[in-house]
Amino acid sequence: MGVKAYAVGGVVRDYFLQRPCTDIDVVCVGSGIELAKAAAASAGGHTKVSVYQNFGTAAFGYRYNNIDWQIEFVGARKESYRRESRKPIVEDGTLEDDQNRRDFTVNAMAMSLNEETWGELVDPFGGIRDLNEGLLRTPLDPDITFSDDPLRMMRAVRFASQLGFRIEDKTFEAIGRNKERIEIVSKERIATELNKIIMSPRPSVGFKLLELSGLLKLIFPELSKLKGIETVEGRGHKDNFYHTMEVLDHVAEKSDNMWLRWAALLHDIGKPYTKRYDERIGWTFHGHEAKGSHMVKRLFKNLHLPLNGKERYVEKLVMLHMRPIILSEDIVTDSAVRRLLFEAGDDIEDLMTLCEADITSKNEVKVKRFMENFSTVRRKLVELEEKDRIRNFQPPVGGEEIMRIFGIPPCHEIGIIKDRIKDAILDGKIPNEREAAVKMMYEIAAELGLKAVNG
Ligand code: ATP
Ligand code: MG
Repeated sequence: MGVKAYAVGGVVRDYFLQRPCTDIDVVCVGSGIELAKAAAASAGGHTKVSVYQNFGTAAFGYRYNNIDWQIEFVGARKESYRRESRKPIVEDGTLEDDQNRRDFTVNAMAMSLNEETWGELVDPFGGIRDLNEGLLRTPLDPDITFSDDPLRMMRAVRFASQLGFRIEDKTFEAIGRNKERIEIVSKERIATELNKIIMSPRPSVGFKLLELSGLLKLIFPELSKLKGIETVEGRGHKDNFYHTMEVLDHVAEKSDNMWLRWAALLHDIGKPYTKRYDERIGWTFHGHEAKGSHMVKRLFKNLHLPLNGKERYVEKLVMLHMRPIILSEDIVTDSAVRRLLFEAGDDIEDLMTLCEADITSKNEVKVKRFMENFSTVRRKLVELEEKDRIRNFQPPVGGEEIMRIFGIPPCHEIGIIKDRIKDAILDGKIPNEREAAVKMMYEIAAELGLKAVNG
């Protein structure tokens, strides 16, 4: 077609960093949509092009070497911004115009796809140098770059966390000056960046930068509230923000489960609201796990995270996160372990991962004792699960059955019978078996003055 075309942005950066990348952005001087159609046609008859007329872009998927590539085409453009919106006024431009509108020098490199200049790098802002130094820097004046599109501030922090890069001082200072502009960015886009920070190798890097720049207070005030140490009569408590950061990094070393990482981030979120000073015992945070757990749903809503069941998993882990520790401070009884298994169910492994990560004491003797006790808890968890199958507990006698046998309608007594059977099993008074449960049902019923009419 005689059109100049370049691979641009993330794909060029990741190529030099040798990071896997399957999203390829192509910029051309001309119509991106026409080029996409022609490229798809040459790729084979079945390739379906999605055209986004409003954005002047088009994309198609292409399977090659057993990999699904996503290739997006756009015409080079020039953007001008208005104060109240992230959405710019767009007009056709040169490759240089297009590189100017990109967020960081390492994201502004282009590589020629035309035959005669194949693979030639167009790097007007020293992106390669910054890449080698691990530096994030905006191509133009950072105050303008960030004010134009404040999402770029989140992206700076996210890339720093994801790639282990440093944000150049001038660029970081500009984030501080423009942080209030974050309010014009949609919650969904902020959540996307938060999730990418959470999934980075050491998520604390990103959250500490958010805190340092002042962004955290604006987008996630509850987390920023964990920061700080109060002192009364010379006694202080630990800084719960930095403690949370340690716990999050520990969990990230052990697991790629994004929601387990969210649970780590939120496990102490209730502490500021339950903090008390007691002259005899010092600082306490009684009930912070319940308070925190009750905050989870609202936090998910505020951050526009999906409410599709993951919030209940996070609520549960936050609620239970003190249990294994309390349990291991004492003699580890079978009945306490059975109750923990009953409440955690299939999430018991994740809960134990969170609890072990939560030990951040500098006192080695203390840490050693906790870890030993945890391994006792873990051993008992396996033993008791094998014997009593509590993890997916199903009541051995059901409500329907009780109603039929004693000829009663739905009522309070049924709950009493079922609870007492459950408690007896968890306390190890009867085995988790039907025969024992039925026998106990008749005993309790007799106490309650119920008479069997069937069976
Ligand atoms: P990732 O795919 O890991 O999120 P990426 O750098 O590829 O990283 P994309 O959102 O895929 O990010 O964007 C592709 C390219 O488009 C970027 O490399 C950058 O050049 C440009 N870009 C994306 N978002 C912005 C933005 N908000 N401001 C300026 N340029 C951007
Ligand atoms: Mg990309």
